[in-house]
Amino acid sequence: MPAIVELAAREILDSRGVPTIEVDIRLDSGARGRAAAPSGGSRGKREATELRDNDQNRYGGAGVRQAVALVREIVAPALLGSDFETTAAVDRRLLELDGTARRTYLGANAMLAVSMAATRALAAGGMLHEYLAPPDQWRIPVPMFNVLNGGVHAGNNVDFQEFMIAPVGAPSFSEALRMGVETYYALRALLRRTGRATSVGDEGGFAPDLDAHTEPLDLLLRAIEHAGFSAGKDIVIAVDAAAGELSDGSTYIFRKSMRRRRTTDRMIEFYASWVRQFPIWSIEDGLAEDDTEGWRALTAALGKSVQLVGDDLFVTNASLLRNGIAGGVANAILIKLNQIGTVSETLEAISVAVRGQYGVIISHRAGETTDDFIADLAVASGAGQIKAGAPVRGERVAKYNQLLRLEEALGADAVYAGRQFRERGGFLCS
Ligand code: PGA
Ligand code: ZN
Repeated sequence: MPAIVELAAREILDSRGVPTIEVDIRLDSGARGRAAAPSGGSRGKREATELRDNDQNRYGGAGVRQAVALVREIVAPALLGSDFETTAAVDRRLLELDGTARRTYLGANAMLAVSMAATRALAAGGMLHEYLAPPDQWRIPVPMFNVLNGGVHAGNNVDFQEFMIAPVGAPSFSEALRMGVETYYALRALLRRTGRATSVGDEGGFAPDLDAHTEPLDLLLRAIEHAGFSAGKDIVIAVDAAAGELSDGSTYIFRKSMRRRRTTDRMIEFYASWVRQFPIWSIEDGLAEDDTEGWRALTAALGKSVQLVGDDLFVTNASLLRNGIAGGVANAILIKLNQIGTVSETLEAISVAVRGQYGVIISHRAGETTDDFIADLAVASGAGQIKAGAPVRGERVAKYNQLLRLEEALGADAVYAGRQFRERGGFLCS
């Protein structure tokens, strides 16, 4: 059995210039693994704790020296010299050491960096996706490119956080990537021609001020057509409202655009009218995570025709997802490793979703590094969909470039999920 003989942790920066934790692990076989934790901008209330120093003299309080020290002083002595055959065994030890429900002691950022680095080390010799799951369920996911940014990810007047394009009609991932990039170029040209800003938000999407609520969608349709593709056939649209950021507990306030409030019922009517007018296949966090009745009504109204994704709603937590499935809430889950804190619990949440016939989207976060773990996770799990931002900026294209490598490695066996994104395979090993 492989033994961990080296475990190092350090503070590095994410794509926003915010500190995050990176971990290196070496096994006695010589195999190595390195991983870094991502970090959210709009966070769900039930996410596992991200440990920050809160020392206002460093990085405005966002330093992670404490998390680094915990890995060096608590995690390393407990793991060094011990044999671990699987990620699950490492994660069990991490969860024991933390001993809290919300990862308040070690921090989900510290735990995840260790868990991912250990997974990589254990996979060494093969590729990460090969370690994570057997080949019969591998699929290359449909990329959801976040080309227009708003909400807390951008300084513009757009309240909804993400407007994405998904090339479901592409014959392969590499073609999907080309279609996404060419549409991104067309969108930039369109914005320039109409005198709009082409500066970008945290995830690389453009972040202009826009006049009407339908303008982001009109712009996407025009960009898709200008790039020579057919909206609704080649490329469909997905929206992440991140409505938890708009909610005051009873209504939804459109602060950035200075538009009026909407009740839950009005929000549902609004989405229904969008779905009638535009080729939208997916709406994420359309309502806030504590608006359970609203979510049920939204699912009853639109769940048959559109993918309704729970991000802040489920926070990659298998038990919250089980409740959601039992209660008829949403029909898909967004998967973010750092919302829960270990690789094995992430795999468990994916398995629960697959068994419950819920859609699965593997996702990056607003604060990213060049770590490309989620690309392998998406292929191995057969999730069918990945959200990794616009097809620009190093930390975003790191994921898309790894998907190109995986497509090449799979060769003739590479299956692009395309329109079958909802049909998923078996279970994950953990
Ligand atoms: P976050 O954004 O990383 O800021 O949470 C991504 C998302 O909401 O899907
Ligand atoms: Zn989201």
